[in-house]
Amino acid sequence: MNLYVHFPFCRAKCAYCALRSKAGSSSATRRNYCKGIAAQFATLPTDTVATVYFGGGSPALCDLEPILDALRQSGARPVEFTVELHPLDATGATLNMLREGGVNRISLGVQSLDDGVLESMGRLHTAAQAEKAFRAIRAAGFRNAGIDLIAGWPGTSPKSWSTTLARATALGLDHCSVYTLIREPNTRLDLAARKGRLAMPSDDAALAQIDEARAVLADAGLVRYEISNYARPGFECRHNLAVWRGEDYIGLGDGACGRVGLTRTDGDGATHSVTPEEDAVERALFALRTSEGLSLESAARRWPVLAPRIPSWRETLEFFKRQGLLQDAYRLTVRGAEVCDSILAELV
Ligand code: SF4
Repeated sequence: MNLYVHFPFCRAKCAYCALRSKAGSSSATRRNYCKGIAAQFATLPTDTVATVYFGGGSPALCDLEPILDALRQSGARPVEFTVELHPLDATGATLNMLREGGVNRISLGVQSLDDGVLESMGRLHTAAQAEKAFRAIRAAGFRNAGIDLIAGWPGTSPKSWSTTLARATALGLDHCSVYTLIREPNTRLDLAARKGRLAMPSDDAALAQIDEARAVLADAGLVRYEISNYARPGFECRHNLAVWRGEDYIGLGDGACGRVGLTRTDGDGATHSVTPEEDAVERALFALRTSEGLSLESAARRWPVLAPRIPSWRETLEFFKRQGLLQDAYRLTVRGAEVCDSILAELV
């Protein structure tokens, strides 16, 4: 079992963000929210939890100590326990509290190491503060730590992106996620683009940045193991891998989704059931996003209900293989990674 807890609190809303998160919450609101989450631990099979992931938002805007205590008291002993941190939260006191509370992996939200880009994103921290935060994470004893970056930000020059990648790899990362910017409706980014105040980059320009990231990170020893994720061997995010490998996960908190057996929980906490076939399709296909790829033989063995679909899936996958989008049986090529969503849509 894997556990995700969402903390929907931020200092300010970033210009591109459409996630369920809000700025300006009171400390009483955050305290009550954490109390509610902690109370739920007692009702869950937390002793079987293999991975825990605290995401947001900025989880450390909350006092996490009571919630870490409650999780431990519930019997949870995860092999991997990740907390997402905003650079301004990476203080010595917070990092020590997290380490003592059982957290063993930190994902630092950096997004860029160009001050101009960070300002236009509304990130509230500088590149130097992000670097200092990463060094503080290491100094606090975290041996598994990485950052997130965003490619394709409007107006990012090739030099700015190269500098971000060079400064990022100089930190000695174990893990790096590189997301392509998505213009989500009704974000500040979207409104500015609609008013013509900024121009979104072309798909080719954004893809060139992803290509460069792949090459620079590979030189630094970080291998691409999922479309947007790179890690030193052995430092892949186990929590996310578990989700992509079709395992169950419980989602707690406002905006968290879950998948347990045939039950799905959406971001509002509502649940619904899926059929065994829908369940198997969803769990099997995610593997295509990873470097392990989708093996039809293993999928059919693990989910016999998929058997009638396998011949048509094979036909579709062979078609994409002939287009150079897949290799072996079946893993995405570099070009295939650019259009994975279309391939998945075709299979579904
Ligand atoms: S810190 Fe993260 S969740 Fe919060 S507004 Fe920025 S991108 Fe969204």
